[in-house]
Amino acid sequence: MRDIVYVDGSFVPRTEARVSVEDRGFVFGDGVYEVLRVINGRLFATRFHNARLKRSLEGVRISLGGSDSPERFVEIGKQLLKENGLLQGEATLYMQVTRGTATRAHNFPSPDVQPTVYISAVRFTPYADLAKTGAPAISHPDLRWARCDLKTLNLLPNVLASQTAKERGAFEAMLVRDGVVTEGTKTNFFGVVDGTLRTHPSDNHILPGITRSVLRDLAREVNIDLNETPIRSDEIPRLSELFLTGTTTDVMPVVRLDDKLVGKGAPGELTRKLQKVLADSLASGGD
Ligand code: PLP
Repeated sequence: MRDIVYVDGSFVPRTEARVSVEDRGFVFGDGVYEVLRVINGRLFATRFHNARLKRSLEGVRISLGGSDSPERFVEIGKQLLKENGLLQGEATLYMQVTRGTATRAHNFPSPDVQPTVYISAVRFTPYADLAKTGAPAISHPDLRWARCDLKTLNLLPNVLASQTAKERGAFEAMLVRDGVVTEGTKTNFFGVVDGTLRTHPSDNHILPGITRSVLRDLAREVNIDLNETPIRSDEIPRLSELFLTGTTTDVMPVVRLDDKLVGKGAPGELTRKLQKVLADSLASGGD
């Protein structure tokens, strides 16, 4: 099986791909990234991912050089899918841009250096069984910075919270900041409180998830109201349904939170309905 990646302007076997030890992504986590879902060679919600990548790049003040653009990265991604035999079945595309390679100094390299672009396509298997039964989650303090709306490589608080979740047998950690549920380490959270579907509004404390916004539109189409008001920690005992969303998570019911059942301890009605509309959209969609 071929496994070709794109790095620094070249297509190379993954095992031969190299970046400098002075790459600012390696030294500072100074970069941004995107993950796209691919089903039978069709990329899902490409325009949204491109727009978010542009926004993240602007947010951290990285300028792409020459003819590079998110649209071009998508074309490179498509080529990788083809080269690596991933045009059938499920796959993901990973795209990363760092500020480039320079002698270590906190401030930006001067003069500017070329950003390092890395793109990879890999096989993906959805969490089909867990999506039926629902997954356990834990709550965890949100220890991240105040620009969580940018999809940066600085994921250490997410990594640590995710590891704690794993060690406690949970699928995801639900992050709580100032008494409100923000999001997960790699997902957005939605919950039903007193019959109303709620999720954190799009602000600097959450990543504007692509699945979150696709699902918001789909919910509207099937007449499900969504209230973008954060769920407070003191409302957690009143949750009748809880689920998370993400590019590789789809709609994942959460049936147990901190070892207590959520609702009846099984995926709820709204959750299952939204699971279905997203699955239908993924099956028919792509752009
Ligand atoms: N929140 C965080 C912190 C994430 O890292 C992710 C995805 O990686 C998400 C939410 C979900 O975003 P998307 O639906 O675009 O995958």
